[in-house]
Amino acid sequence: MSDKTYKGGCFCGAVQFTLSGEPAAMGYCHCDSCRTWSAGPVNAFTLWQPQALRITRGADNVGSFAKTPRSHRKWCKACGGHLFTDHPHWGLVDVYAAVIPDFPYKAGVHVNYQETKLPMHDGLPKMQDLPKEMGGSGVALAD
Ligand SMILES: [Zn+2]
Ligand SMILES: [Zn+2]
Repeated sequence: MSDKTYKGGCFCGAVQFTLSGEPAAMGYCHCDSCRTWSAGPVNAFTLWQPQALRITRGADNVGSFAKTPRSHRKWCKACGGHLFTDHPHWGLVDVYAAVIPDFPYKAGVHVNYQETKLPMHDGLPKMQDLPKEMGGSGVALAD
């Protein structure tokens, strides 16, 4: 465990936070839920233990929406910028790579690739849905 700390924040800066240590996983999610909520073709995710995340400013500006109990999506109520998604059934929080500019993001895997609208031929593993240890089939697709 490293004790490195990274700073992040929303689009307008009203919400700021720090992350300590290193994420459990990093990659790109191609699922329809990520796409329709983010309005972007893929979600660059970093999954952390919840205790790694500390909101240092604007905690009362953080909105939350849960379409399903598996994903509690958080954004800044001032600017609408997206921040994180809590995944209680995994005990992990997805902090979007886009809101932690000084973090050395390095994708390790593509997940939910069967739903992709933006194929990426980058040589990384492509999981049809999710790895087995995350409750998925563990099936890998061709790059
Ligand atoms: Zn904001
Ligand atoms: Zn997704």
